[in-house]
Amino acid sequence: GPVIDAAFVRRWLSAATNAVDREADRLTELDSAIGDADHGANLRRGFTAASAAVDKAPPDTPGGVLFLVGRQLISTVGGASGPLYGTLLRTAGKELGDGATAAPQELSAALRAGVEGVGRLGGAAPGDKTMLDALIPAVDALASALESGAGLVPALAAARIAANEGAQATVPLQARKGRASYLGPRSVGHQDPGATSAALLVSALCQVAEA
Ligand code: ADP
Ligand code: MG
Ligand code: MG
Repeated sequence: GPVIDAAFVRRWLSAATNAVDREADRLTELDSAIGDADHGANLRRGFTAASAAVDKAPPDTPGGVLFLVGRQLISTVGGASGPLYGTLLRTAGKELGDGATAAPQELSAALRAGVEGVGRLGGAAPGDKTMLDALIPAVDALASALESGAGLVPALAAARIAANEGAQATVPLQARKGRASYLGPRSVGHQDPGATSAALLVSALCQVAEA
């Protein structure tokens, strides 16, 4: 499988930035139904800033790149999603430490730690109609595929499927966290913007591993 080094994480950042750019209007549309219509713009601003920061001073470890991207998202995304995605990536980066490369199991454990950090920061549980409804199934699928002996590429493909299914499964849920929760039962029937963007970010990771 592919080597998980700083260049690998930079390829993910580039794929993620492109995906966010391409899907920004759709993310904003989803957020206009149950939020304040800024999710696409928020992430576009954050990922553009993160890409620029990494290009300007490229860290030489995968953990360093993730940490820098997380820090940039926290400082440039104005919404709830900035600190949450920022925590995810900063925590994952810190967890990877300063190794020049990471084993698939190390990446998996680091992402799991990042997702747990999102849960601690935002206080959301599975089923609350948030980004966690895509992220938790994704890290679960990644870990169990690796445990059963799959390589990184098929394990990430399983994570991508789980994230997409998790995002789609937010449609019938009532939001219990974030702005969408203010709508109460009127949040039912719409896909959560953050779960949708989370699935895009997982998909970008799979895409670079497959390339
Ligand atoms: P804001 O709601 O501040 O405008 P965004 O529109 O950028 O921020 O992001 C909204 C997304 O953030 C939601 O769709 C949801 O997935 C996620 N989110 C909001 N609050 C939480 C939380 N407490 N825990 C996890 N995710 C959350
Ligand atoms: Mg919003
Ligand atoms: Mg907002």
